[in-house]
Amino acid sequence: MSTPYKEKIKRSAEMTDLTYELLKKNNLKSRMGAVGSLYKCSCCHDESEKWLTQFEAKKHIHTDKHKKSNKNYNAMKSKYENEYRMRLNCEERNKEIQKELFKYNGTHRVQEFLLECEEADDIHMSLDDEVSVDGEMITRPIFYISAPTTFNELYSNFQEWCDTLGESNISKDNVKSIMIKFQDESAYGLEIGECEEYLKKNGTLESPKFNFKFEK
Ligand SMILES: [Zn+2]
Repeated sequence: MSTPYKEKIKRSAEMTDLTYELLKKNNLKSRMGAVGSLYKCSCCHDESEKWLTQFEAKKHIHTDKHKKSNKNYNAMKSKYENEYRMRLNCEERNKEIQKELFKYNGTHRVQEFLLECEEADDIHMSLDDEVSVDGEMITRPIFYISAPTTFNELYSNFQEWCDTLGESNISKDNVKSIMIKFQDESAYGLEIGECEEYLKKNGTLESPKFNFKFEK
């Protein structure tokens, strides 16, 4: 003998089309069985519960019990998702802070090193330039002034200095750009070019020279 409640559920089930959206909204899992799709409700059923046929599933989503637990389940789910999103935001922010801190520590370390260096005056340099005069090759010297220390020298001093402090090294490119900035702010200023190193006293961006010397 079916009750009016059961009749009502059955009628609703008969009019229900189990679309993907409906499955999602009701938190129904589905899988293929031997005679068609089988369903399980994530709100009401635990792992040991047997899978429902399609009609059983349609009836299930109209029960008062399911409507109530589905409401709670969805509320929990959105609360959990919000918390999850918040945690992701925190992790993102934390990564940014770590990156900034690393950059700051790096800059700080290079500056500490340069403050321990002696400032050193420019030196006079010359190189032989071959030119053709009336079809004849002659050699003439080019004189120029240059900051005394190459980047490679200063960088290897810096690495040794870091090693004695037991600190890990920073990337070479990073050290270079920090040193160039420091040179620019020093009393000697920065004269750097993009081509031949003798054209500018601080060489080129590729191979800069500095007015700093590290005395061991
Ligand atoms: Zn349910």
